[in-house]
Amino acid sequence: MNILVLGSGGREHTLAWKLKQSPKLSELFVAPGNAGTASIATNLPLAVNDFQAIKTAVLNHRIEMVIVGPEDPLVNGIHDFFLEDAELSQIPVIGPQKHAATLEGSKEFAKEFMSRHNIPTAAYQSFTSENLEEGLRFLETLEPPYVLKADGLAAGKGVLILEDLDEAKKELRNMLLDAKFGNASATVVIEEFLSGIELSCFVLTDGQNYKVLPTAKDYKRIGEGDTGLNTGGMGAISPVPFADESFMSKVLDRVVVPTVEGLQQDKIPYVGFIFIGLIKVGEDPYVIEYNVRMGDPETEVVLPRIKNDFVSLFQAVADGKLNEVALEIDSRAATTVMTVSGGYPETYEKSKKISGLEKIEDSIVFHAGTKLENGQVLTNGGRVIALTSFGANFREALAISYQSAEKLEFEKMYYRKDIGFDL
Ligand code: ATP
Repeated sequence: MNILVLGSGGREHTLAWKLKQSPKLSELFVAPGNAGTASIATNLPLAVNDFQAIKTAVLNHRIEMVIVGPEDPLVNGIHDFFLEDAELSQIPVIGPQKHAATLEGSKEFAKEFMSRHNIPTAAYQSFTSENLEEGLRFLETLEPPYVLKADGLAAGKGVLILEDLDEAKKELRNMLLDAKFGNASATVVIEEFLSGIELSCFVLTDGQNYKVLPTAKDYKRIGEGDTGLNTGGMGAISPVPFADESFMSKVLDRVVVPTVEGLQQDKIPYVGFIFIGLIKVGEDPYVIEYNVRMGDPETEVVLPRIKNDFVSLFQAVADGKLNEVALEIDSRAATTVMTVSGGYPETYEKSKKISGLEKIEDSIVFHAGTKLENGQVLTNGGRVIALTSFGANFREALAISYQSAEKLEFEKMYYRKDIGFDL
């Protein structure tokens, strides 16, 4: 089977790496890809939102399945585009249609979905410029910290958590009246602050059947001790030690089953990954957010632990036969440490020569922001290379990821040395 993976990060390199292990794979394409995917697949220089160019490539290369990595093309309706095109409608797309992608594209839609299906989440109300005054009064009824969320996609920056009431009121005005996050903050969700520890749960579904994938915990802040600015993710571990059997059975009963059944009841078709951002409050799970694709860098620890043939797995998803698949999970822990460009997540330089890759033997090297130029691997983004390792427990695995990080070199390379510090 010829397969196209859309995207260019560590998540897509991991998906490609997994697919590459399948004897059922014929040709593998990644668009636009990175230096890592170039070593195992054919990179196609296409933008993930250029659906016409993707169509041409799919027809030219006789691509038989498309796996969508990032949320943007899903929210923009790539799956619908395929279904509505006579030449593409038979080609399965792994990733939900536009309607379902609204679970990630609109926080208000996600909150309404959760309240309709009794899925535990923080209490909330949403506001627009029309009812700003009500929003300001609502803030007065809450205890700090105040959680303000731009409804739409804001590149992970649209959530403000503020201690001071006056500041929260000011930010609400900025978001609603001055378009602080552009159109994304035309609606703002204000919600109750939940205090607990976060983790991610992943579900793969064909719309009827589903499989719960290994849990993961990622580390979002740039600085050690979880300080400083938010990033795309600085490292991850799987499984999450505190997500024990009793907690996960609550997640299944209260969150996963009502989510999958809720989609069916609402007649929202869903084919692909559901990423459920959870917070454990006491012993109970609450949903912070839904994403309609895998997380990055969580993919780099979750997928390597799944032993199944991924071409068969995705084929079962496309055929609605996920019930016929038994997942085989590696019982070892996996960790990943993300090396990043100095200055990230603010300004940083690109095109730095990366050396030491050939010395890394004990970790799996997943490329994120890299490119190949004249045979040399160069940096090409903020997050550069993820180093994934296995161990009997996450501490053992982490020690290996850190040994590998020491062998890697590029100008101003940085990585957090405290992944898993809170466990
Ligand atoms: P991401 O960048 O992960 O996609 P996002 O911008 O879509 O995030 P959320 O995941 O909803 O936004 O929130 C971002 C972060 O803010 C969460 O990971 C969590 O740490 C914090 N947060 C969000 N809602 C709450 C809440 N109700 N109580 C406490 N913390 C919260």
